[in-house]
Amino acid sequence: MNNQDFQNRISQISSRLAASGQELLLVTPGADLRYLTGYDALPLERLTCLAVTAEGKSWMIVPELEKPSAIAHHIPEKGIELLSWNETQNPYEVLAKSVGSKSKVLVNNLMWVEKAWHLQDAFGSKASLANDLIAQMRAIKTNAEVKALVEAGAAIDVVHSQMSKWLKPGRTEREVGRDIANAIMESGHSTVDFVIVASGPNGASPHHEVSDRVINTGEPVVVDIGGTMPSGYCSDSTRTYVLGSAPSEYLDYYAVLQHAQAQACLAATTSNSCEQIDAVAREILTGAGLGDYFIHRTGHGIGLETHEEPYIVSGNSQLLQNGHAFSIEPGFYIPNKYGARIEDILVCVDGKGVSTNNTTHDLVEL
Ligand code: ZN
Ligand code: ZN
Repeated sequence: MNNQDFQNRISQISSRLAASGQELLLVTPGADLRYLTGYDALPLERLTCLAVTAEGKSWMIVPELEKPSAIAHHIPEKGIELLSWNETQNPYEVLAKSVGSKSKVLVNNLMWVEKAWHLQDAFGSKASLANDLIAQMRAIKTNAEVKALVEAGAAIDVVHSQMSKWLKPGRTEREVGRDIANAIMESGHSTVDFVIVASGPNGASPHHEVSDRVINTGEPVVVDIGGTMPSGYCSDSTRTYVLGSAPSEYLDYYAVLQHAQAQACLAATTSNSCEQIDAVAREILTGAGLGDYFIHRTGHGIGLETHEEPYIVSGNSQLLQNGHAFSIEPGFYIPNKYGARIEDILVCVDGKGVSTNNTTHDLVEL
């Protein structure tokens, strides 16, 4: 991504603003700001904010002490006028004065309420949420973004492929989780975003993290891990392991899950809608009596955030498109017993989903 690429994104967002009858978009630090400017500014109490008008003008206001960082991120070279404010100024007024009066104002969805309210006061108008305006752009990945996601997938695969080193009977989930977190960093990620080590009955809670529970022989363990690469793009992959051998009914359920995940991946084509892909996995699990235990959507989009558009869920009738990047992660969760999930990140290229994760989908006996 060079300065011109970011300039193109900003002019595209200007056109979208104009097309939707809006006048101004305000974006504070987070994935939207990084997407539009390449600046991964820290989300602090002091105001940093990008302003883009429908006419194609853009400004970024930053605290004086962060001006060197904004310059190091080439904000002026991206055609964005850099403003700064010192500790005794009101940054909202400084920004509003430069931009001029606007009545149709959008703010990014994840802006802090405190900042949104101050911006509303400064511009003298009620702001609306940017919603799809940025999300739809972010949902269609460029070749460079696809490459970044493929790199993230390969890095998290390296961690899963070493699981036998850490996942052993007698160790706690927390001990195993610490080793996995170190390996996520060693594999090339710049942050560890989450580590789920859900053993035995904890596997029935999809978002269990780690606990001091000791892992026993014969227990299935759901391991869902992810981090952010230096590129800003995220990894997210789940595999299920068993220490020794699992109960036979569990093996039967797991075989159904494996089939459901594989079929949903095959259904991930531009001929299907997001909800049709979800239905493929759900019908297979339901047919085997596991439907009530599959308690979440089949997947989510991924990019600069782990969860973003498009969501692979009933009710989302949009067709899958080239450039979409998303998880396929069906599971079953049987309370007080165990759970299982298989998760890959796919990118849609030439009409069909291609997995960025290539470790085995079999239940791995350690
Ligand atoms: Zn996951
Ligand atoms: Zn996921």
